[in-house]
Amino acid sequence: MKITMLNGVLNVPDNPTIPFIEGDGIGPDVWSASKLVMDAAVEQTYKGARKIEWKEILAGEKAFKETGEWLPAATLDIAREYLISIKGPLTTPVGGGIRSLNVAMRQELDLFVCLRPVKWYKGVPSPVTHPENVNFVIFRENTEDIYAGIEFASGSPEAKKLMDFLTNELGAGKKVRFPETSAFGIKPVSKEGSERLIRAAIKYAIEHKLPSVTLVHKGNIMKFTEGGFKTWGYELAEREFADQVYTWGQWENAKKTQGEDAANARMKHEQSLGKLIVKDVIADNFLQQILLAPQDYSVVATLNLNGDYISDSAAAAVGGIGISPGANINYNTGHAVFEATHGTAPRFANTNTMNPSSLLLSGVMMLEYMGWHEAAQNIEQALATTIMRKRVTIDFYNLMNDATLLKTSEFASEIIKNLH
Ligand code: NAD
Repeated sequence: MKITMLNGVLNVPDNPTIPFIEGDGIGPDVWSASKLVMDAAVEQTYKGARKIEWKEILAGEKAFKETGEWLPAATLDIAREYLISIKGPLTTPVGGGIRSLNVAMRQELDLFVCLRPVKWYKGVPSPVTHPENVNFVIFRENTEDIYAGIEFASGSPEAKKLMDFLTNELGAGKKVRFPETSAFGIKPVSKEGSERLIRAAIKYAIEHKLPSVTLVHKGNIMKFTEGGFKTWGYELAEREFADQVYTWGQWENAKKTQGEDAANARMKHEQSLGKLIVKDVIADNFLQQILLAPQDYSVVATLNLNGDYISDSAAAAVGGIGISPGANINYNTGHAVFEATHGTAPRFANTNTMNPSSLLLSGVMMLEYMGWHEAAQNIEQALATTIMRKRVTIDFYNLMNDATLLKTSEFASEIIKNLH
């Protein structure tokens, strides 16, 4: 049965059909392990009353071998039709028309949020002293910014034309230090694009009863693009969530009119009422704050490029790409693709040695998104128990003392044993 969305609400039947892409390289190994655990968790949690019907769709090398196309139109059609899908890592084709299969899927389904939870599980090797303080969710804008793909190579006729336009029409030619050899990239950041991302982050924080949303930007330098993101974010929070949020913008106004002490007292009062605090921080400062005071952040909303850096840097603090899950979501249409955040690690293909946790935890995010919270929590606690008992795959084994080394499939069996 199909999952549908009606008036902004997902309707998930007890036996939903969910398309999956197993992925290239280590994809089949981590996918089969993740699928086994998800099926066992759903079965054990709901005693057979719920079951996922998996439907394979093709992308990447497997698709290319079977159909001659890297991303067949049928795959996108099915992902569109069934709303929710899950995928392993895909090879980025070298040459040819497609820049990246992941980017193509995000664009086709307009998946404007890249959602990356960053959470530490006890026992996971970490380079920071207090990884238990790291627990936040990143909402990265996924469709605009310098990643829009509008780039012109140094020396190209387009770059020359753009340089002439900057000089003759906009009077900005002098700002380009080396006009003859500059390459150019364009950074579109829109009000609509920023608003839909920030709206999704605020709704998520409210639904999950989290204390704050932090807008991360470089508006001090890029005033209209990144600065716009911040301004539009505050305006949206105050306009659409007036009764539920208190913003740093409001705090600043209170400070101007009533003084700092009164403003602080007001902020405390609003927090005591359970209001969500919407604040902002400059991206470079944020990157040090997540090392120094990660406990100050619970939901982070940011632009595409900042979000890319922040996601991987934050993931490193809690165990790296072998365990960090992700999803690309359009909260308006319901479309969502859950995915491993690591690549295909082709050297380790078919070795049954890699860590399936990234894809498995993406599956946990998927179950949460579907409203199957009990099954999601069951997997999470079983995975946490397995890691705490130091029964792990090679990546963690190499960093732990007295651990037991498990194959990918053995690790999955161990998690299944630890399910309630
Ligand atoms: P990679 O993530 O595939 O591998 C880098 C290293 O990380 C590996 O050599 C391995 O040591 C480690 N690693 C990765 N996944 C692991 C896991 N599950 N468990 C334990 N260790 C793991 O990055 P790469 O080598 O730069 O990229 C290889 C291919 O994957 C490229 O074609 C790239 O374009 C593609 N890629 C795809 C995605 C995606 O589909 N989402 C993301 C990144 C890269």
